[in-house]
Amino acid sequence: QLPVIYFVTPTYPRREQIPELTRLAHTLLHVPRLHWLVADDQEKCNDFMDTLLNRFGIPFTHMVSPMPSKFRNEKPAPRGVANRRAALQWLRQHNLTNGILYFGDDDNTYDLRLFTEIRKTQRVSMFPVGLIADYGVSGPVVRKGKVVAFLDSWVAGRRWPVDMAGFAVNLEYMAQYPYVNMPYKPGYEEDLFLRSIGLKINQIEPRGNNCTEILVWHTQTKSKKLGMVRLESKYLDDRSN
Ligand code: UDP
Ligand code: MN
Repeated sequence: QLPVIYFVTPTYPRREQIPELTRLAHTLLHVPRLHWLVADDQEKCNDFMDTLLNRFGIPFTHMVSPMPSKFRNEKPAPRGVANRRAALQWLRQHNLTNGILYFGDDDNTYDLRLFTEIRKTQRVSMFPVGLIADYGVSGPVVRKGKVVAFLDSWVAGRRWPVDMAGFAVNLEYMAQYPYVNMPYKPGYEEDLFLRSIGLKINQIEPRGNNCTEILVWHTQTKSKKLGMVRLESKYLDDRSN
């Protein structure tokens, strides 16, 4: 039987939230043996969100995981971190040591072949992510089937300069590390998380035809900053024609 993919999605209330989750759900609906962990950055669970998630028909767990208020006004803020921490805690609490963990944001774009690739993860697999920063891609450099380096336009002293969507972890492997950590440190979450699970470069399993194929993109939805809105409408009456 196929190992279950635990697909962790941080999300937060804004007017793009429902369309983003709808689009993502319509990708995930094609994937067998997937459990969707939806961690919402708000104070309370709400029935509306539950109804929406239920309607998709994907096995899911819905949790709320508000960003601690002291981080809210920081620039940059640690986006999606409280959410991923909550999902990690949930996996630990349920003693889930079988399956594959993947962090999939609500606004990225996923090729269905990605799921076939990550399901084979023995320890940690890696693959390129499209549309990252200046280079338009971030990912491992592979020589003779082994990861030897990383290409990323913002290395910034990171040992593992990769995007959150660029790796998957086997839960049995992760269970060996009691101090799994996803810190509130914008830009360094991936690096410190991968350090906390004792990653070594020769253990990395390159995926996507030796990291030559892009199977996930860091797409970003243009969001409308809400200021004062002038409401306007027009009533068309048959009789005025
Ligand atoms: N996110 C969140 N709270 C926030 C901002 C973002 O939970 O205040 C989530 C968001 O839904 C996404 C992830 O964190 O799944 C990363 O955020 P975003 O896509 O805005 O960041 P970017 O991809 O631009 O780095
Ligand atoms: Mn994003």
